[in-house]
Amino acid sequence: MPVILDNYNKITKKATAKNATLVVVTKTKPISDVEELITLGHKDFGENYVQELLEKEAALPKDIHWHFIGHLQSNKVKMIAAFVYLIHGVDSIKLLQEINKQAIKINRIIPCLLQVHIAQEETKFGFDFVELKDALAELAKAPLSNVQIKGLMGMASLSDDQNVIRKEFDYLSSLFNKHKEKQGWDTLSMGMSSDYELALEYGSTMLRVGSLILHSRVFNN
Ligand SMILES: *Cc1c(COP(=O)(O)O)cnc(C)c1O
Repeated sequence: MPVILDNYNKITKKATAKNATLVVVTKTKPISDVEELITLGHKDFGENYVQELLEKEAALPKDIHWHFIGHLQSNKVKMIAAFVYLIHGVDSIKLLQEINKQAIKINRIIPCLLQVHIAQEETKFGFDFVELKDALAELAKAPLSNVQIKGLMGMASLSDDQNVIRKEFDYLSSLFNKHKEKQGWDTLSMGMSSDYELALEYGSTMLRVGSLILHSRVFNN
């Protein structure tokens, strides 16, 4: 059984106690893992790769909430526009404009989160403080009719030092709180397997957890 039930139940309980949604990250996992979680009543799943998401979406029930949590390329937006439930990693106005364009075509409003760069690693994506401010100003001037920005998303550093992670979550959380009323935001997506408890402490409303819940497999030929 690939789902680690004890962990799934524990994380679900902690998330529920804080009114947070648990998105189970199923990237690179087989469809049968998703089915097993559906049997447990789970509805929110996170995927990083468009092709893999398309395969799973085609094979599975239509009432699943598919969260796109990876880095989305503009030319792939149209492939997921019709069904994606929430796009977490929006990191440019250009991408937002493309999402808006595709959403208009199919007469949908697509919910999105703006990704903020909070980690020390340069390789991670997202707006920095000034870019976020500029992006919000630009959107206020020229609103996008078919995109609904619901809040922020961030990934903390890969670090064993809890103080580093606390600082980053505290920063993201304060950015979220600063803007949420005026912007009408309700979603702060932060916290993964290694740091979900800290994330809840700092006000996360949405966890993205993979490896703690699903066994990784060793493939043999
Ligand atoms: C893979 C991934 C996760 C889940 O990571 P785990 O450490 O397996 O819980 C969460 N968020 C993003 C953006 C990811 O790419």
